[in-house]
Amino acid sequence: MKIYNTLTKKVEDFVPNEAGKVKMYTCGPTVYHFAHIGNLRTYIMEDILEKILRYSGYDVTRVMNITDVGHLSSDGDTGEDKMLKGAKREKKTVLEIAEFYKNAFFSDCEKLNIKYPDIVDPATNCIDSFIAMVKALEDKGYAYFADGNVYFDTTKVENYNELSGHSTEELMVGVRDDVTEDLNKRNKSDFVLWFTKSKFDDQELKWDSPWGVGYPGWHIECSAICMKHLGNKLDIHCGGIDNIFPHHTNEIAQSEAYTGEKWCNYWFHVHHLNDETGKMSKSKGDFLTVSLLESKGYDPLAYRFFCLQSHYRKPLVFSYEALDQATGAYNKLIRRIASLKKDGEVDTAFVESAKQEFIDKVANDMNTALGITCIYDILKANVNDVTKLEALKSIDYVLSVGLIDRAEKLNSQASSTQSENASNDNIDPELKAKIEELIAKRREAKKAKDFASADAIRAELSDMGVTIKDTREGTVYTLN
Ligand code: AMP
Ligand code: ZN
Repeated sequence: MKIYNTLTKKVEDFVPNEAGKVKMYTCGPTVYHFAHIGNLRTYIMEDILEKILRYSGYDVTRVMNITDVGHLSSDGDTGEDKMLKGAKREKKTVLEIAEFYKNAFFSDCEKLNIKYPDIVDPATNCIDSFIAMVKALEDKGYAYFADGNVYFDTTKVENYNELSGHSTEELMVGVRDDVTEDLNKRNKSDFVLWFTKSKFDDQELKWDSPWGVGYPGWHIECSAICMKHLGNKLDIHCGGIDNIFPHHTNEIAQSEAYTGEKWCNYWFHVHHLNDETGKMSKSKGDFLTVSLLESKGYDPLAYRFFCLQSHYRKPLVFSYEALDQATGAYNKLIRRIASLKKDGEVDTAFVESAKQEFIDKVANDMNTALGITCIYDILKANVNDVTKLEALKSIDYVLSVGLIDRAEKLNSQASSTQSENASNDNIDPELKAKIEELIAKRREAKKAKDFASADAIRAELSDMGVTIKDTREGTVYTLN
């Protein structure tokens, strides 16, 4: 396996600390709102990385935190707490919204075939570990207490900028202009490990600590949760590129100050999904979620397929036109797989060589687009259908775009569509013509991306007692 390492800025052979075993850590979601499909691009790519490692025979342990406390709205140490903001918006408690959006996140992951991590730990469950780590940093002289908060002194570590590649001058301006400076900091890049004082709204969740009642900073969370479950040495740490600075930079500084040795060997970062106006966000324009895509008739796995067509280290621009194209190619592929016959004997030699070719391609810095070309190569190969199915099943463990599952669903849908359409033969011909006219109008509206009209037609049909269902074969309906 070769992978680009943000730390060395090179594609390198992946060699874990312990032969055959991989310790992997992923920054989890801040559960104050739904994940947008940009966040989920990162989780899809991390899922592929994990599955390539497993497919290659590694025993992987993957840990993910859930940020349910301490993530301020600026990535520095300022701004309102995102969780508190979310709780106020929905008139609920912080723990209620954390529970709701954590479940929503994993439900989106399930729809996108993203495997549940081996260990998931929310920050509110690890307060003792944070306090112990902050205390140790203070005892070692890396942390200082100033006006109620505990800060990490970034000048005490060597190579603070190694991961980000920033220069010290850049850092001075890198701290956002719109953020008022915290005068307690000895250096601009210092960051808060533990708060007992914030000039913003009071926290809902607070804990006792040696420095007074307070709450943790964001960065300490990931280092402490990672070490709690994986020990002092980590093989690979993942996140989106916005996490490189300051989050991962600060994680390295405090972790290595704590252990006194190198912490993590490989840093894997996924570039952003942007919309046509720039970076995707939860507050601006159309808030793109998996549920929104589903409500517009898209299969979440077609979105996964769309993501896999591009390299994870390149920015990807989302548009409905681009998703339509990917969906068209995906549906065509599924129809082709659905037509494969299931009789005959599997040519195991072919399956093994197809698997090898696939892993050679995708394990080279995660070239998922080449991985997809393997699907087409298998379909074109001069072997029987069951052999093709067997090879596809195996490589879809990694790609997880539901090649076999969706093809089987399509075949069972096709037979139920036939029987549903046959049962509509008894409907009054005039009513039947009206229903079919409305369905055709709705199809046109959806094609023109006029989702409001499409929804209005669905409601009109519902008032007439007609339930419609969109399938890959078109819209089917039943009269109640
Ligand atoms: P958050 O819930 O904000 O902590 O973000 C969860 C993950 O999504 C992190 O790994 C971020 O780096 C990543 N992320 C944030 N915005 C985007 C985006 N537009 N495209 C891809 N990944 C993103
Ligand atoms: Zn993190």
